[in-house]
Formats: sequence, C-alpha cells, structure tokens
Amino acid sequence: MRDRPSGIRTSQLDPHARRILERAELEGIELIRFLYADHGGVIRGKAASRSRLAERLGTGIGHTVAMMAMNMLDQLQDVEQLGPVGEVRIVPDPATYVPLPHAPGAAAMLSDLRRPDGSPWEACARTFLKDAIAELATEGYTLVAAFEPEFTLGRRLPDPTGGPDRLVPLDDSLCYANIGFDTAHDYAVKLVRALETQGLRVEHYHPELGPGQQELSIRHAPALRAADNHVLFRETARGVAMRMQMWATLAPKPLADQAGNGAHLHLSLWDDKVNVFGEDNDVRAAFIGGLLAHLPGLTALTCGSVNSFRRLAPRTWAGAYAVYGPDNREAAVRVCSALGESGEPNLELKTSDSSANPYLSLGAVIHAGLDGIRRGLDPGEPVGVDPDTLPGRYPRLPASLGEALDALEADEVLMEALGPLRRRAYVAVKRSEAAAFAAHDTAYELYHHVRAF
Ligand code: GLU
Ligand code: MG
Repeated sequence: MRDRPSGIRTSQLDPHARRILERAELEGIELIRFLYADHGGVIRGKAASRSRLAERLGTGIGHTVAMMAMNMLDQLQDVEQLGPVGEVRIVPDPATYVPLPHAPGAAAMLSDLRRPDGSPWEACARTFLKDAIAELATEGYTLVAAFEPEFTLGRRLPDPTGGPDRLVPLDDSLCYANIGFDTAHDYAVKLVRALETQGLRVEHYHPELGPGQQELSIRHAPALRAADNHVLFRETARGVAMRMQMWATLAPKPLADQAGNGAHLHLSLWDDKVNVFGEDNDVRAAFIGGLLAHLPGLTALTCGSVNSFRRLAPRTWAGAYAVYGPDNREAAVRVCSALGESGEPNLELKTSDSSANPYLSLGAVIHAGLDGIRRGLDPGEPVGVDPDTLPGRYPRLPASLGEALDALEADEVLMEALGPLRRRAYVAVKRSEAAAFAAHDTAYELYHHVRAF
C-alpha cells in the first residue's frame, strides 16, 4: 500500500490501523467521526479526513478540556480544571471503526479522551467504564450487558408563533399493533440494515405503546461493547430518521402525556463460562443488594436528565421503586426468566434511559453491584406485587434530577468511584440543567431533550 500524505508510512502502523485505512479507502469514506459521550449525556466528536487518518489514529484530535463542562443546552459551566486553558485528545479505539450507512462517505469510531501524552484523563467517561470493568475483574467477574432502547418517531413541526419546534408522532398505532409495523416499515427496515452494517445484532423490533413509539433491541455484548453499541444505536436511530425527513428521539419523555422512552439495562455476570445470574445464589443476591442500596444516587447517572423524571413515575413500568422481583415490571430490578432453552436468566434495571451517558451509567452500575458483592449486601425479600399499590411500604426513587443529585453526592461509594474531577464536573453540569429547565416551561424542556437525545 502506498504511503499516506501525512508522511506516516502504512508499514509503520499496527495491523488494526492498517486495516482501517484500507477499509476507509475501499468504502469511499471521506470523514471519520471520533465520537465520545459528555457529562450532559450528549454524543459529540470531531471528524478526521481520510488523508489525515493514519496520523490521527495515533495522536487523536486535539480538543478543549472545557467540553466536559458543557451542559446539554451548550452552556459552559464553571468547573476548575475544565476552563479555557488545557487540551485533551480524542483518541479513537481502532476496534470500533464502522462505516455509517445513513451518512454515506462517513465512518465513526468510539473514542477516549486522553491527555496529550496519551495517558488516561480523569474526566473521560469511557475510561470510567473501562476502569470499572477492570475493578470487577479483580473479583473474577465480567459483565455482559444490553441497553433495550425505546424511542419516538415523528416529524419536526416548527411553531408558527416562533416557539420551540414540536415533535409530531408518526402514527397513532396501538401497542404491538400490526398496523404500526406498516406505518414505520420503511424506516424500520432501513434502521435494521444500518445497524447490522455496523455490526450491531438486532434482536427484535415492535411498535410500542405510545404514538410513534418504537422499540428495537440489540443483542447483549461485553460491557464496553454494549455501551459503544448504545452510542451507535442512538445516533443511527436519529440519523436514519433525518435522512428520511423524519425526527426520531430517545428522550425519556418527549410527549408529556404519553408513554416514556426507557433504555432498560440487561445485565448478566459471568465467572468464566458460568452465568452467575442464571440462578438464585449469594453473589446474585449481593449484586442486587448493591444496586438497590445505591439506586437513589445511581439514578442521577442512569436517568441523567431533567426530562428523565417525567418518565420515572409509578405505574409506567419505568422502575420508580427501589425493589426487585421475578418478572416484576414495576420493580427497578426485574429478575428476568430465561427465554427458551438457549436463553439465560438476567437482571433488568428499568431505572435507565437514553439521556444518560452510557459509559458513566454502566460503570456506576458495576460499582454499585461490586459494592454489594464485597459487602455481601442483603437485597431483602423479592417483591411480587406492584409496589405502588402499597403506599409507604417500599422506597420510592428520587422524583427530580435535583433529588437524585443530592442522593449521588451523599453516596460515598459512587462519589469515590467517579473521582474528584469527574464528580465535580458531572454534578455542576447536571445542577445547571436542573436550574435552567426550572426557569422555563414544559415545551422548552421537551424541545431541548428531543433535540439532544
Ligand atoms: N416505556 C416503559 C419505560 O419507560 C417501558 C415499557 C416496557 O416495559 O416495555 O421504561
Ligand atoms: Mg418496551
């Protein structure tokens, strides 16, 4: 292969990088997006041109540290060490290269934010998840996960009076109704193809409860890959819609009076080749104990936006109570029964949506479960009823982002795991969002969450 204009000889590159360059050339890729998730939960990045890719694979692309102090309204927060002075690099993970079928000529790579010398940076969310996975490995376990995303498909309607644009749902089809497959058919087929091209294995798809609501689940994968997959899913669901002059959103509650969009988090814990969550045992019980004990604070990370708390209401199957139970769809933690002979039982955390940064969310879930295992936390009795039918009996999770942040700041395990810079930045960014939306009406909140997620 000939040398690249950057002056780097392809023969000097590792085989992974060489393969990416070859693929990019073959696939006619001009721009390669280096993507990361920020503290507001927004997926952002910069794109390298193909002619500079060889060099950029190694050095990454320079970026201001301040972007990790940006909230989801693009308002920069005042966070020490994340000001106008200072540089990180967006360094792509070569294993994650995918062409983007909905953006012909573009590819994407999931990236870490690193210091200029290449060492890990304390405010990188993907590094947080990698560290959590490594910590779990010290106890001999690996985590396999899948986000189960719901989203709303519709059209973007400008407000003639100059107010925020509105999302008009695509249809009024009923839950699982066959006619809903037809209204969203062209979109759904394009989405499946686009996801499969990127190596995401589509499990199933159906029209969900609310107007325009869809659900499409992706096969489980090792934790880091599961979070990477969810980033690609979010961007593909929205990108495919945009190419079809539609508007798709994974915002937790894009329509205030309709069903919310969850991203239930499916989890199984593996000890070598054994699924520890496959049956009732002390480790599974302790992991659940850890999740329940930390859920109030964890919610600030798994349901990370102001809009999340419109969704997180009782009697909506969103996981508003810190309880667990076998196939209990009102419990935050559902112990799922096995699907057929090849299926494995797993845990499902319902208190999770797509406005979260998936790396922070899954990393924090690992820390919570790990704390449960290390301390042998007792999850109590499983709950076999809708907890909302017994008022005052079961712990209700925070009802607002502000309450969840109070709980997070009081949670020593999660705060310690986040580390000084990340926790300062996260809390500042999220507090600023809570304050900003408190000063505006519902239409403003809905528009901004639909736009961002
Ligand atoms: N839409 C519900 C949520 O917000 C979930 C419904 C279901 O269990 O599929 O989490
Ligand atoms: Mg669903």
